[in-house]
Amino acid sequence: MSRFWSQLVHQLTPYVPGEQPKIADLIKLNTNESPYGPSPKVLEAIHKATNDSLRLYPDPQGLELKKALANYCNLDAENIFVGNGSDEVLALSFQAFFRQQTQPLLFPDITYSFYPVYCQLYEVEYQQIPLDEGLNLQLKDYNQPNGGIIFPNPNAPTGKALPLSDIRQLLTNNPDSVVMVDEAYVDFGTESAACLVKEFPNLLVTQTFSKSWALAGLRVGFAVGSPELIEGLNRVKDSFNSYPLDRLALAGAQAALEDLDYYRKLCQQIIDSREELTRQLEELGFQVEPSKANFVFARTPDGVDATQLTAQLREKALLVRHFSKPRIDQYLRITLGTQEQNQKLVQTLKNLLQT
Ligand SMILES: *Cc1c(COP(=O)(O)O)cnc(C)c1O
Repeated sequence: MSRFWSQLVHQLTPYVPGEQPKIADLIKLNTNESPYGPSPKVLEAIHKATNDSLRLYPDPQGLELKKALANYCNLDAENIFVGNGSDEVLALSFQAFFRQQTQPLLFPDITYSFYPVYCQLYEVEYQQIPLDEGLNLQLKDYNQPNGGIIFPNPNAPTGKALPLSDIRQLLTNNPDSVVMVDEAYVDFGTESAACLVKEFPNLLVTQTFSKSWALAGLRVGFAVGSPELIEGLNRVKDSFNSYPLDRLALAGAQAALEDLDYYRKLCQQIIDSREELTRQLEELGFQVEPSKANFVFARTPDGVDATQLTAQLREKALLVRHFSKPRIDQYLRITLGTQEQNQKLVQTLKNLLQT
């Protein structure tokens, strides 16, 4: 607390990201990063961009990247917005579309925990809609007066995905609200809603280079939506930071989009290892949610406390994520690592559960 802070700052409860500790030989399965490095072509492009031109500001619109993304999404550059990680794109969207609504913004009770933080920061009223008993998002529960709707698909931290038909129905039922689909994990086996953008001017889809593209350190995210929504985002962005993406980030993300084969291979490796880890955890007595993400969400076996197990794993230099939240406090969220890392985890769990 400080007398120098604005009133609002006193009231903030900031988001706490998964830790990035400096422990030797750490196996880091706590923040859904890629266990594999980015495409060599990305590194080459970043090296090439590291030159005298760094004295110049980057393109404030990131037009070349937008064009590449438009091509990737089968849309036009006017349908694309780029930002410093999708977290920034989300933050700007909350400002642009959800402030000063007469009805609350709706999102799930168990979801990405940044959403309520943005609501605090931008003073957005919100209402959390409980997932059902089986931790499924039931979009029919969102058919009520609202000032907007946001959810991840697949949801985090459950990893469960909704079919496109459900999202289409939600959009049809809510023509006057902005509906945001946060597709941070879409590339691991879910159909993107980006194809609905031409049909629904109220739909905004966000994606990120942090997970499937193995570029969390570069900080690049994007949104696709109608020119109307994109213009709204541009207005907020240009009232805040003209250059959210630096030259190296622009070059790296563009190069990533030119190496789709590499990225598809990474995604497939994750998907394959997901099935294997799920089966192995189930053999150890975990109850594993069917995941469409690069992580699994697993309830610990009966009598095994998840907080304690997380701490025991940490002692063995294995980091996983645990949320001390009602309904999910006996679950671990485990990012899929390399084959070798996943096997190390399974072996360590086996040893811990036997003693
Ligand atoms: C990881 C994540 C993001 C943000 O990713 P950035 O690194 O900021 O692009 C957004 N939404 C969800 C649900 C995530 O898990």
